[in-house]
Amino acid sequence: MKVYKTVAGLQRHLNELRQKGAQIGFVPTMGALHDGHLSLVKRCLNENNICVVSIFVNPTQFNNKTDLEKYPRNLERDINLLKSVGCNVVFAPSVKQIYPKVDKRQFDFGPLDKVMEGTYRPGHFNGVAQVVSRLFDIVAPKKAYFGEKDFQQLAIIREMVKQYHIPVEIIGCPIVREKDGMALSSRNERLSADERKRAVKISQTLFKSVEMAKSHSVDEVKKWVIDTINEEAILEVEYYEIVNSLTMQSVNSWNDCDNITGCITVYCGEVRLIDNIQYK
Ligand code: AMP
Repeated sequence: MKVYKTVAGLQRHLNELRQKGAQIGFVPTMGALHDGHLSLVKRCLNENNICVVSIFVNPTQFNNKTDLEKYPRNLERDINLLKSVGCNVVFAPSVKQIYPKVDKRQFDFGPLDKVMEGTYRPGHFNGVAQVVSRLFDIVAPKKAYFGEKDFQQLAIIREMVKQYHIPVEIIGCPIVREKDGMALSSRNERLSADERKRAVKISQTLFKSVEMAKSHSVDEVKKWVIDTINEEAILEVEYYEIVNSLTMQSVNSWNDCDNITGCITVYCGEVRLIDNIQYK
């Protein structure tokens, strides 16, 4: 496995591979890797000759300085994990490599980024679009892999490649969960043992709500999910929205559209966790 820290070094290597006919797949990450990330890497390895993984904690997508500073980083451990699953190339650049000068681009994703994460993390998706478009330029992959864990982000990336005619196929991959149902996340590392135990209430409540949806209205399910999670003193729901899975806009009834997803953000102590569940 090759590890590159510069754009020039990475591109030289990828160009050689492309000349030999290799198809390049790409998995962008912010490191602190877990089995969720590795599921993307494995899928990428299955569907391409070469899998490139980037590890870059992108400052422009953090609207909260403490969150950026406290984001877990462990490059050596990440490199070993990637080696163990057969990843071919790691790209771990500095901020200067990605942003030689300040990126002033402003993206507009219409209604998609005006709700949920877009409301509570102003500028977040603009930063995501900046880094992903820059990484797509550098790596020029045929296919790129993103988790459904970041459900709204996946919709934004799909919209971005459509708007800018970026020739990359976007592949969405299912959420990987712990045995008890908790969605894997790099941020879970920041939870104490007690917080981690209590945080399972988030996914458990979402799972139960799917049963409830068979006999209750959207509003009833929404209220029940928020109240049930908030019963746990250490948990505080920031938002729970039940949305059209394509447009991210709230639905009023289960008959509003064909695919419906519930998207939640919960503070567990100081750690901000996200999860989602598909109703249909
Ligand atoms: P991050 O390092 O948090 O930016 O995540 C990098 C990629 O891994 C994103 O496409 C995430 O959606 C995906 N990812 C993170 N956690 C999971 C998970 N539990 N299951 C599947 N994909 C995930």
